[in-house]
This record gives sequence, structure tokens and C-alpha cells, in this order.
Amino acid sequence: MKSKPAIEGGKPVRDSFLVFGQPDISDDELNEVIDTIRSKWIGTGPKTHKFQEEFRKYIGAKYAHATNSCTAALHLSLIAAGIKPGDEVITTPMTFCATANAIIHAGATPIFVDIDKTTLNIDVNKIEEKITKKTKAILPVHFAGRPCNMDKIQEIAKKYNLVVIEDAAHAIEAYYKNKKIGTIGDLTCFSFYVTKNMTTVEGGMVTGNNEELINKIRILSLHGMDKDAWKRYSDEGYKHYMVVEAGFKYNMTDIQASFGLHQLKKINENFEKRKKIWKMYDEAFADLPLIKLANPDDSGLHARHLYIMILDLGRLKVNRDYILEALTKENIGVGVHYISLHKHPYYKNLLNLKDDDFPNSSFISDRTISIPFGSYLSDRDVEDVINAVRKILTFYWEG
Ligand SMILES: *Cc1c(COP(=O)(O)O)cnc(C)c1O
Repeated sequence: MKSKPAIEGGKPVRDSFLVFGQPDISDDELNEVIDTIRSKWIGTGPKTHKFQEEFRKYIGAKYAHATNSCTAALHLSLIAAGIKPGDEVITTPMTFCATANAIIHAGATPIFVDIDKTTLNIDVNKIEEKITKKTKAILPVHFAGRPCNMDKIQEIAKKYNLVVIEDAAHAIEAYYKNKKIGTIGDLTCFSFYVTKNMTTVEGGMVTGNNEELINKIRILSLHGMDKDAWKRYSDEGYKHYMVVEAGFKYNMTDIQASFGLHQLKKINENFEKRKKIWKMYDEAFADLPLIKLANPDDSGLHARHLYIMILDLGRLKVNRDYILEALTKENIGVGVHYISLHKHPYYKNLLNLKDDDFPNSSFISDRTISIPFGSYLSDRDVEDVINAVRKILTFYWEG
């Protein structure tokens, strides 16, 4: 007997609401924040530098610079790489709006290339047909934590002399083949937003192997001042600074870095927890009306940021939005990653885009659903998510 969904008047799987995408914070972060406040150095200072250096070592890149968000990191990377008004930057429409907004804020035009339906990443075989004389950069997104085909992207970049800036907001732990994400393209941007694999509440980082690019980013991130400005008031004595660029206010603070230092220490442990939950979900949902994606670790190591299900609507009686509503009524929080950017009014109107231009992104847009996934979940939470998903998808299964 199929049990009745709460949306149809039945009893929900859970009594209390399970929030989607919670952080996993312990007393270590709390104590570090208190220590920072007591030290009275709460802005950009020694802890930001320490965190930046530890993150750099973790990634294995030559250089790193901390920012107050990944959006800021992307914006600075584009400017440092010389992207200017009139330039075109190739990216994916299946991403968070920040990716494309950063291109707009650099004065350039985002050129969307459709995704591969089984990896949900940019289809590398469709990049070259979108390259024009104005193309200056490729901005791939390692979607949900799955590494893009970087061999092909680097090959195209070399052939057309393009900069590669990677959006690794989902992909801190990821490897492409045996190379860590953050060591491949010219610049790679990471996010420490609340819902990401590790958090500093708000925060970001750029890594790369080109000293000149990272130096530009460092100067641009703090008003365009030429000195390590946080040292101005240190015991080394007052130092003058010169403004060499019209920079931004994109610096990380020591309060944020206090979170980061401890979140980074737990990154492997939390990743192992997510791997376990991922496997349990995969096994529990194997027979449900879902469209299969490529194996996560086909081309390296998937960072497992989001657990995404692609609904096989041909085998379901209701649409995706109804399933979202039904799971919410079971007290399970849900997300959609993402409504493809070509469907949002701003990009649709600006670039005159149609659904037919991006058949795969359009297809996924209508079918994708994300369920609670992260090291914050208890065994009981995981069990509830599994029961709710099975209950809902079984109830609305056609035939
Ligand atoms: C979260 C996210 C960003 C923006 O990160 P912030 O740190 O919030 O600025 C950029 N790109 C993608 C794909 C994201 O998911």
C-alpha cells in the first residue's frame, strides 16, 4: 500500500522541518571567533593571512588570495586577467547567477554554451562554435562538485589564446584526473558561503600559479593600495601607501578567517561523511523514476557539494514543482540548482536567448531537484530524507 503524501492530507514523514543546506559549525570556530574579538584585531590581519596560506597549501597552488566572497573573487579575476568592456567570456547557463553577473560587472558579455546532459557541466564540444574575435576567456563551473573536462578546455584556451578562470564554488575537494582543482586554470575561485562545503559565513579565495595575476588581485581587493595595507598600523611602524588602481572593498576579515581555519581542518572528515550519505542516497533511489547522471568520479574526484536528482517526468504524474511542494509538506527542505540562466529575464532579454538555444540546460532546468545533503545531517535525518523521497516518487509514479 502506498502511503498518502502530506500534500494530499496524509501524515508527514517528519514532525519538524529539515532545513536545506545548513553549515556544520562546532565550538572550535566559536572559540576562535572569541579569541579574535578579544585580540581586538577583527579586520583583515594575521588570521586572514594564516587561513590564506593554509588554504593555498591544501589546494597545492603557488599563490592564493582571500576575498569576502566568491563573487568578488570572480570579479577581480576577470579584471586582473584584463577582461574589458566589449569582450566576451564563455560560460555555462547551468550555474548560480553570480558567475554571469561577475562577467557583466567586468563590462564583458557572457556567452552561454549548453551543458552535457549527463555531467551537467559545459559541453566542451560546443565551445569552439561560440568563439569569436571578441572572446577573451572561458569560465567553466565545476557543477555540484564534478570537475569539467579541463584537458579540452585548456587545449581550446591555448589554441585561441584565452584566459581560463574556474568557478570552483562547489568544488573545493575536487580533482580533475590527478590534478587538484585550483592548480589547473589561470585562476580558480572558491566560495565559503554558508551552504558551501566549508564556510566562513561569507568568503572566497582565488588560487593560481601566476604571481603577477595574484598580485593584481591582492591590490584590487583593497582599494588599489600598493602595500599590504593591514600592516600599516603594526608594530613595524606606520607605513605610507600609494593608490595605484581604483580598487574595490573585497577583503576578508579575521572574524571570517576564524571560521575558515577550523572548517579547513575538518574538510576531509566532512567530505568522507558526505561520500557515505551520497552512497546511501544512490542505493536507496536506484529503482525510482530518475534519469541517471554520469558516475561521479569518472574523470577524477567529484567534490559532492549537491545531491541532485533529475526527475524522469515521462514516468511521473506530476511536474517538478509539485514534487518540490510535496517534499516540503513532508518537512524536507529542497532546492533547485538551477533554473538555467538563459530563462531568467535579465539574461534572456540582454542576449535575446531562446529555450531552443540550450536544449540540455532547458531539459535539466525543468527536472532538477536537490535534497538535503551535508555533514550536518544525522543518521535519522538521512533516513527521513530517503523515506520522504521514496514515498513521494513512488506515490506519483505513473503505472
Ligand atoms: C555560491 C556560488 C557562487 C558565489 O559565491 P559567493 O561566495 O556567495 O559569492 C558563485 N558560483 C557558484 C556556482 C556558486 O554556487
